[in-house]
Amino acid sequence: MSISDYQGIEVDDVVIIGGGAAGIAAAVKAVSHGLKATLIEARHHLGGRLFSFKDRYTGLELNNGEHLILAGYEKTLDLLKQIGEVDAVEIQPEIEIPFYLPDRTPVLFKSSTYFPIKGFPGALLSFSLLNFNQRLKLINRLRSLTAKVPKNCSTVGEWLKGAGKEEIDLLWKPLTLAAMNCDIDEADLGILRNALIEGFMKGGGLGFFKKTFREIFHNSAGFYLQSKKVKVITGGRINAVECSSNKIDAVYTANGGKFRGDYYIFTIPPEQLLKIPSFPISGSLNAFLQRLEYSAIVNVYLGFHKQILPDDFGCLPGSYPQWFFRVRYLNADPNLTIYNLVISSADLRLSESGIIVKCLLDLKKTGADFDEKDVVYSRVIAHPRATVKLTPDTEKLRRAIIIDCANLSLAGDWTNTGLPASIEGAVRSGYDAVDVILN
Ligand SMILES: Cc1cc2nc3c(=O)[nH]c(=O)nc-3n(C[C@H](O)[C@H](O)[C@H](O)COP(=O)(O)OP(=O)(O)OC[C@H]3O[C@@H](n4cnc5c(N)ncnc54)[C@H](O)[C@@H]3O)c2cc1C
Repeated sequence: MSISDYQGIEVDDVVIIGGGAAGIAAAVKAVSHGLKATLIEARHHLGGRLFSFKDRYTGLELNNGEHLILAGYEKTLDLLKQIGEVDAVEIQPEIEIPFYLPDRTPVLFKSSTYFPIKGFPGALLSFSLLNFNQRLKLINRLRSLTAKVPKNCSTVGEWLKGAGKEEIDLLWKPLTLAAMNCDIDEADLGILRNALIEGFMKGGGLGFFKKTFREIFHNSAGFYLQSKKVKVITGGRINAVECSSNKIDAVYTANGGKFRGDYYIFTIPPEQLLKIPSFPISGSLNAFLQRLEYSAIVNVYLGFHKQILPDDFGCLPGSYPQWFFRVRYLNADPNLTIYNLVISSADLRLSESGIIVKCLLDLKKTGADFDEKDVVYSRVIAHPRATVKLTPDTEKLRRAIIIDCANLSLAGDWTNTGLPASIEGAVRSGYDAVDVILN
């Protein structure tokens, strides 16, 4: 339902503001417990940062960057199951990542049959870009980290003092960038540890979306919620909150809608909360918002008439783009192969053409098979605020956030989930917010 179709006020059990992964998860969980829910989204589609767009040059529908999930992302997989989209993700039974280095044959990060250890530790032990001694040290380092966060180390970089440069450059830098969108010298160690334990150590590998985000998070999620009688309202930006006696009484959209509920779950990004002047911001939330910084992600899409690399995806340690993915949810033009190159924690000062040239040069160095004339399509999309940056400082403030309003919960990838700002963090926060109401 669009906001223009909406008339009148109804009192629901819960009003959820923001229709990204966190808001969808909150709505799914709310209805599964018999709560009456309204979901209000500012844009005309659900999914938030999980959106697809029609590319004006090719006419193809592209996702907002390849989003990786991990086999251990239980809540995300649960949400996909609930909305009937569990098959939209292909999960590796065991971790398997091709590593592409300049002028070398790609090396597979995968456990070898020579060793009895499987999964992520097995892949570390078999990682032939490091010598055996380095690998043993790496395993011990991982084991002591998963046991507990060492004292006096708050960033990943501090923890890696004493580790070899090769180990850091080949493994920890790309891993930290992928998991936390943050450089090792800034990334909070405890959060990386949680991501390793939850995402990698339970077995299984990476998960790839096989459909567009529009199909999954707008169409299927929207259809499921409406079939469960959730009022899904798009095009309704909440811009005012009415409060009395430490409680929210109603929320208002910019275009005149008024919504009332017993509980309110705000799942919108932190900078959007600041744009609602009457939002009840507590002192601890304000302290977090004041220190908050964002990390950018740049997605580069390159099109060729052929496949230029033997694998469908790969990690590119030391290169400007850190990962490449062949866009696999497209089956439109058999003569067009599109690659999505990802630059996490990106510096946004480079021009688009500068970014493309750097990407092409680095791809060439890894042995990609193409000439300049083979590049039939290129596009750069920068996300200056892709995710919040979880440094030790901001993580401490995030953990300390307390809400002074009796019927308000916050959710979203930036809230206190113990995880990096990720799909899993967002979904978990949405589920947790409903648990607070139920309890
Ligand atoms: C390029 C890119 C690559 C990424 N890669 C990965 C990855 O590989 N793996 C991974 O796990 N995560 C990845 N992420 C992060 C992931 O997309 C997010 O963590 C997740 O989608 C956040 O969901 P959310 O619901 O918390 O927030 P959002 O998706 O931002 O949803 C918030 C919603 O609130 C709405 N809203 C805002 N203000 C208002 C208002 N006033 N009233 C009503 N609605 C409002 C917004 O329109 C939005 O739809 C990536 C992000 C980007 C940008």
